[in-house]
Amino acid sequence: KQVYIALNKAKKTVGSHHQYYEPAMEEEVTERLTMLRMLRADFALDKLELWYQPQLCLKTKKVVGMEALLRWPHQPGQYISPAVFIPLAEYSGLIVDIGLWVLEQACKQLQQLSSLGCGALRIAVNVSMPQFRSPQFVPAVIEIVERYQVKPELLELEITESVVMDEPKIVIDALEALKRFGIKVAIDDFGIGFSSLSYLQQLPLDRIKVDRAFVNTVATEGGGLIAETIVSLGKRIGLSTIAEGVETEAQLQAILAMGCDEVQGYLFAKPMPAPQLIEYLRQNQGG
Ligand code: C2E
Ligand code: CA
Ligand code: CA
Ligand code: CA
Repeated sequence: KQVYIALNKAKKTVGSHHQYYEPAMEEEVTERLTMLRMLRADFALDKLELWYQPQLCLKTKKVVGMEALLRWPHQPGQYISPAVFIPLAEYSGLIVDIGLWVLEQACKQLQQLSSLGCGALRIAVNVSMPQFRSPQFVPAVIEIVERYQVKPELLELEITESVVMDEPKIVIDALEALKRFGIKVAIDDFGIGFSSLSYLQQLPLDRIKVDRAFVNTVATEGGGLIAETIVSLGKRIGLSTIAEGVETEAQLQAILAMGCDEVQGYLFAKPMPAPQLIEYLRQNQGG
């Protein structure tokens, strides 16, 4: 199995002699293990946070849901990027427990939103491959949704193509079971991996997320072609589309012209902790 660990730091310079390479690698491994130990400890101490980034309908400009994003506080006001610690959690298997915690927080949040009169807002949760590999995953998700009396259609799972590619059968079977229960499925970072088109047919999808890489360029000359193609493909096969990473008014206008259904990005709101989200919703009449 390929091991990938993304530490956000430049690769150490490798000397021309083999002997220089080994110590550097060992050092990196030690660093990762230290970080993993810290993550395990902080997770056990309940120090991880789940933040939320609003998603808006392009027609009504209203909030229709949000994506749940993990945050790991390091020092006051400082966070370790999920791009750094998620791969570590995936590689170690810790993501299975963290992922269940995320789902539980999201369902708790859905319950709270409902009690505040925002009972139509959905929450999208990112799911990694090791979670699917656990046979407990499907029953655990269903149990959590039922325990918090959440409408299953308000919970959406975001999966990436790399997740599917690893072991398509396991993922497809799990998603089909969850779909039967009513949970929604979105394919994340669409177009970034390989074999995207074949998975569109095999997966029980509700939504396509156009990756930020394609949204970035939509306002530039000829730069919107891929985003536009993905949006119209989504339409043709009956899937809802959402553009992520919209940062500028020009990008918004381009996305709007393509007929994309929803939007998520810094132009509207950054990910925020739950109390701030509630305040944001109050001011933006979500749901
Ligand atoms: P992702 O699923 O593609 O999430 C979207 C990322 O884009 C988030 O980064 C979000 O903060 C960022 N983003 C949103 N709008 C904008 C924008 O307008 N401009 C820019 N520059 N960025 C924007 P974040 O929170 O750092 O998360 C990074 C990745 O970590 C996520 O990418 C996801 O793959 C992973 N991740 C985060 N939370 C979880 C989780 O609970 N479970 C799992 N398995 N993975 C997670
Ligand atoms: Ca996502
Ligand atoms: Ca994404
Ligand atoms: Ca991404």
